[in-house]
Amino acid sequence: CGIFGVIGVTDAANFVALGLHALQHRGQEAGGIVCHHPDHGFNHARRFGYVRDNFTKQSLMETLPGPLSIGHVRYSTAGGKAPVIRDVQPFFGEFAMGGAAIAHNGNITNADALRRELIERGSIFQSNSDSECIIHLMARSLQRTIPDRMEDALRRVEGAFSVVAMTRTKLIGVRDPLGVRPLVLGQLGDGWVLSSETCALDIIGAAFVREIEPGEMVVITDKGVESRRPFKPLSPRFCIFEHVYFSRPDSIIGGRSVYETRRQIGIELAREAPVEADIVCPVPDSGTPAAIGYSHESGIPYAMGIIRNQYMGRTFIEPTEQIRNMGVRLKLNVNRALIKDKRVILVDDSVVRGTTSRKIKEMILDAGAKEVHFRIASPPTAWPCFYGVDTPQREKLLAATMSEDEMRDHLAVDSLKFITLDGLYRAVGEASGRNAKCPQYCDACFSGEYPVAPSDQIEKGFEL
Ligand code: 5GP
Ligand code: SF4
Ligand code: MG
Repeated sequence: CGIFGVIGVTDAANFVALGLHALQHRGQEAGGIVCHHPDHGFNHARRFGYVRDNFTKQSLMETLPGPLSIGHVRYSTAGGKAPVIRDVQPFFGEFAMGGAAIAHNGNITNADALRRELIERGSIFQSNSDSECIIHLMARSLQRTIPDRMEDALRRVEGAFSVVAMTRTKLIGVRDPLGVRPLVLGQLGDGWVLSSETCALDIIGAAFVREIEPGEMVVITDKGVESRRPFKPLSPRFCIFEHVYFSRPDSIIGGRSVYETRRQIGIELAREAPVEADIVCPVPDSGTPAAIGYSHESGIPYAMGIIRNQYMGRTFIEPTEQIRNMGVRLKLNVNRALIKDKRVILVDDSVVRGTTSRKIKEMILDAGAKEVHFRIASPPTAWPCFYGVDTPQREKLLAATMSEDEMRDHLAVDSLKFITLDGLYRAVGEASGRNAKCPQYCDACFSGEYPVAPSDQIEKGFEL
């Protein structure tokens, strides 16, 4: 998901709408905005579909006045059933100190347990979302200010969370102690901005100030930014998959260009897994920077052998298997004239279920390719993510049940190679690779080493 907040500018919701539009790649199912105006109180709007189809209408934006606003773009991870509007964030609740709204990116790994406990003690849940726990924990806290209540609430929460919240007068941002999901601070004139990624600061002309640090809470008012440390410090474990796929290539994360990291992954891949071929083609868009790097390092020409229909969203983020199956063809088509009689290296960011790779291989062979070699910009995805990226159950992951060679045979391609975990760490700037004793990133979907025990899942029978 993507989260965004603005304080201290006229009609803050307009800026939030623009920010969410720039974060649309993080969630396309739905979006929501909450705002506050001294005379009109809290207002909100939640809609299914793209930001640009909803939050550009003047009639809607006029209902969202005030200098303080937060928003959220969603793709469902928890729940996973048919989307319902009451699961769309931000969540708003009115309690002792006048109410607060929150937008959450990540996944709370003890949400089921918390929910049971809260319901037993009288909380009335509105949604199926794990994120709603935070509001109820805040409502029950005995602290005297909302930021204090939020600290209280978040100390009970396990898993991954970047949160943007607001009260009548404050904009609040928090990252979990491991800093699994991103959150950055920006400045816009006299106002302040919180955003999942820097690309959304650019769209509104805000200056990047710094990242919110893992385990940090910032409370922003008209007096400025106050930084707090609500949690016991831990060594950070940012999601390495943000670098591979999730973030936009024009964002800067941890001081590194996401584009440059992806290009480096391609360079590493070409060193680790060279092969003779005529052209290097990306599976667009997510494989593009890595394909550029692979071509650069190998000297094999880069070519657009697959063309993407720009009017389709991200395939992975389609709710059902059937739509996803169709999705590949609706979104990607082979550039036949280019492919015919060529030995083709295809570069993609990841293989999850194998749906995309299988379809693409068929399309490429159909177009007359002589050989197909897959090169993947991440290690085999063998474990589900419980921290906010919607990977399927373990059984559906190709790499959970097959070795690299078995996957190659299953996909019936001439060769299939994944970047190694160490190669990936080198590409994100860790010169000596992964520190096995204390990994610098979360890489659980590749390694199976979960930095936070997924307690709800374990209770349901998930085996580490
Ligand atoms: P598959 O078709 O193998 O199930 O999925 C792989 C494709 O999904 C890749 O092309 C990748 O770009 C895309 N993808 C989109 N979202 C995600 C995600 O959240 N996780 C992973 N691993 N791949 C994703
Ligand atoms: Fe990111 Fe994978 Fe960790 Fe999930 S399990 S937070 S996708 S690295
Ligand atoms: Mg892709």
